[in-house]
Amino acid sequence: MDHDDFRKLGHELVDWIAAYREGIEGYPVMSPVKPGDIRKAFAAAPPRRPEGLADIARELDAKVLPGITHWNHPSFFAYFPSNTSYASILADLVAAGLGAQGMSWQTSPAATEVEEVVMEWLRQMLGLSPAFTGVIHDTASTATLCALLCARERASGYGQNRGGLQGTATKLMVYASDQGHSSIEKAALLAGFGKVHLRLIETDADHALRLDLLNAAIQEDIALGRRPCAVVAAIGTTGTTALDPLKGIAELAAKYRFWLHVDAALAGTAMVLPECRWMWEGVEAADSVVLNPHKWMGTGFDLSAYFVRDPQHLIRVMSTNPSYLRTAQDDEVKNLRDWGIPLGRRFRALKLWFLLKDLGVEGLQARLRRDLANAQWLREQVDEAPDWERLAPVPLQTVCLRHMPKTMKDEPLLRAHNLAIAERVNNGGRAYLTPSVLKGRQMLRVSIGAEGTERRHVEALWKLLNEAAGR
Ligand SMILES: *Cc1c(COP(=O)(O)O)cnc(C)c1O
Repeated sequence: MDHDDFRKLGHELVDWIAAYREGIEGYPVMSPVKPGDIRKAFAAAPPRRPEGLADIARELDAKVLPGITHWNHPSFFAYFPSNTSYASILADLVAAGLGAQGMSWQTSPAATEVEEVVMEWLRQMLGLSPAFTGVIHDTASTATLCALLCARERASGYGQNRGGLQGTATKLMVYASDQGHSSIEKAALLAGFGKVHLRLIETDADHALRLDLLNAAIQEDIALGRRPCAVVAAIGTTGTTALDPLKGIAELAAKYRFWLHVDAALAGTAMVLPECRWMWEGVEAADSVVLNPHKWMGTGFDLSAYFVRDPQHLIRVMSTNPSYLRTAQDDEVKNLRDWGIPLGRRFRALKLWFLLKDLGVEGLQARLRRDLANAQWLREQVDEAPDWERLAPVPLQTVCLRHMPKTMKDEPLLRAHNLAIAERVNNGGRAYLTPSVLKGRQMLRVSIGAEGTERRHVEALWKLLNEAAGR
């Protein structure tokens, strides 16, 4: 492909993306294909001779689009919003075009410094104090793993860095709520704590971690000669967006000197709204905080923002610094390879820059407020409808509900009934939501906040749910 071919095809594909987005409401939200359908459309062996990309748009339509679940569809209410704004798409195109590696400052100074700028902007937008410094990671899972690695190293006086798993005799303990994300368990495992040293603390009626039980677990572990090493507090659990009592957990952190990591992967975006910041009161005492602009904020996957109070922990654990990576500027600049796991780093910061330049903080705030209001509207409908039950508070944009006809009291029946509702809605193609189980109860989880979701889409979903429930 030469420069002119690229230009021509590039314009064509940008048009293809715009046409896709323009017509996105015409597609079934959840892909209807069966396993293997997409694979079958491709040859078993790679092209031997050059085929060129002249017909690539047609091939995308025929072979790929049927197997896409449309995350940016305005009636996408499953999992979490994964907004990929136009601004973010263009930034990714530019990043790919530049093809730069940002592993150290010198390998592309702009990659490091634009990242420093946008992370500083984001810090201000979230209302975090200047004590925090941000770095971009690929996902919250990685950031949480880094947090637990740093916690482990700090607790052991960097002994594990030397002696590894054999370095200390004292058992190091990690705590999270039983509603915590699966990435916490994975991180505890990968960081070498061992599953038995992760304690999942029971939650209250609002599905938030019970502080009294956390306190009791810590006391018990200390009495047994174990050491509380880290607590992962969820601000916005995945199931219901429950808010762990961060202020109380921070007080325990001060007393017992464990690492406090705040997992606000989805909900962190809401902190761009000053009226939401009560939800993470106490965050200033955290050692680390993660939130995913690649969820609700609008930068396409992947872009996870990891804020730390003291970057030295991260650098002491992550730095390798072999001679071939050292440069003359090392004392004056950040080498972000030492702030995370991978050495190579894409130029992700462009996505946040483009997004914020396009929307402004006020534009973003307006969109978030729209989504919060839509969620409150749906909450009101559920609360007023006699046959529907709401299973969790709605502090943010997720509404957890189930249909509960008066004649149906039996849990297995309710389970089957609500699964059938989800299936009807999802297979119908006009909306997509997630059926999930909350403490033994089958629920329908509606996560609002796709970029294109307006009130009429939420109203249409409510109508669909009622139709599906009535059949
Ligand atoms: C989505 C989510 C995660 C995982 O995010 P990744 O970036 O996919 O690793 C972790 N915690 C919470 C609370 C989440 O909502």
